[in-house]
Amino acid sequence: MSLMDNYTVPAVHEPIQKREAMYIWLDGQKPTAKVRSKTKVLDMHESPPIWGFDGSSTEQATGENSDCVLVPVFCCPDPVLGEENLLVLCEVFLPDGKPHPSNTRAKLREVAEQYAEHEPLFGLEQEYTFLDGNLPMNWPQNGAPAPQGGYYCGVGSDEAIGRKIVEAHLRACLNAGLLIAGTNPEVMPAQWEFQVGPLPALEVADQLWMARWMLYRITEEYGVSATLHPKPMRGDWNGAGCHTNYSTAAMRADGGYKTILAACEKLKEKAPQHIANYGEDIEERLTGRHETCKWNDFRYGVSDRGASIRIPWHVHKAQKGYLEDRRPNGNCDPYVVTRLLIETTCE
Ligand code: ADP
Ligand code: MN
Ligand code: MN
Ligand code: MN
Repeated sequence: MSLMDNYTVPAVHEPIQKREAMYIWLDGQKPTAKVRSKTKVLDMHESPPIWGFDGSSTEQATGENSDCVLVPVFCCPDPVLGEENLLVLCEVFLPDGKPHPSNTRAKLREVAEQYAEHEPLFGLEQEYTFLDGNLPMNWPQNGAPAPQGGYYCGVGSDEAIGRKIVEAHLRACLNAGLLIAGTNPEVMPAQWEFQVGPLPALEVADQLWMARWMLYRITEEYGVSATLHPKPMRGDWNGAGCHTNYSTAAMRADGGYKTILAACEKLKEKAPQHIANYGEDIEERLTGRHETCKWNDFRYGVSDRGASIRIPWHVHKAQKGYLEDRRPNGNCDPYVVTRLLIETTCE
């Protein structure tokens, strides 16, 4: 008897509707954690469950005891895949239920809750640089491009290097529902900025990490990479920072200017602790030149872009608003920076 004699039509294998969830988390690399991600296939209406990964490959565990746990904390549409697909930002836990030592978000959660009555808000200005190999995009192999001066908010293919990518990144972030406030070409060629916020600490930091992931993901499509390194080119080239605009309810209220000044004084007391936690290689960037105050110096002032803390002119005029901490590096961890600002100024 052959299969042909016995032939019956096989049941059609109907595909179950599926969607993809990109789980995103911070690894244990020191001194600067890196974002990692992997895909979980979900049923169409399934919410992203708790998941796990091999911590021995991310500097978060040893080989004999390698399991780390991913707990979803922020979820949005995946604008790259579109349709029902998701991006899922996670906190990393140990199997015993404690936050992993690398989990800086867990510490911010506690502090944000403790000082919630102050209603802190943050706007983060993420600067970054496009790299093609080891050099900034379009950088000549020998020598250097024209000196700085025309690139900041420049237009034209000799000045705005990589705009197509910036536009694709912005569109993707907006389609994911991230609160991006704007973008601009920066002082060094191939350097750009986008701003996230204003939002409460956990939200702004979650969204910045998502927007960073998006930047790496979008640049994959263009054959270049993006770096958050604070000083990608030595010499007379601006570094990349993450200016952190910060306010509390008291600062935003009428007459809040005195609370802003009081916060600056508290920040002066704790300056070394802040500098030590504002991103690796901060000394390379905060040289006292290129719109920075030297790393071991501290001053604040109205409209002063050479100060550690700038009070915008309109804040001085209105006698209320926010301050700009100009010290955080492009490669800072926003969970750490926002936590320190709250701890120092709300205590
Ligand atoms: P800069 O002049 O330093 O380049 P940007 O326009 O790039 O300033 O960034 C200013 C940021 O300040 C924006 O992200 C904005 O959302 C944020 N911001 C505005 N008001 C407040 C506030 N009250 N508290 C915290 N952040 C704020
Ligand atoms: Mn800016
Ligand atoms: Mn800038
Ligand atoms: Mn700024």
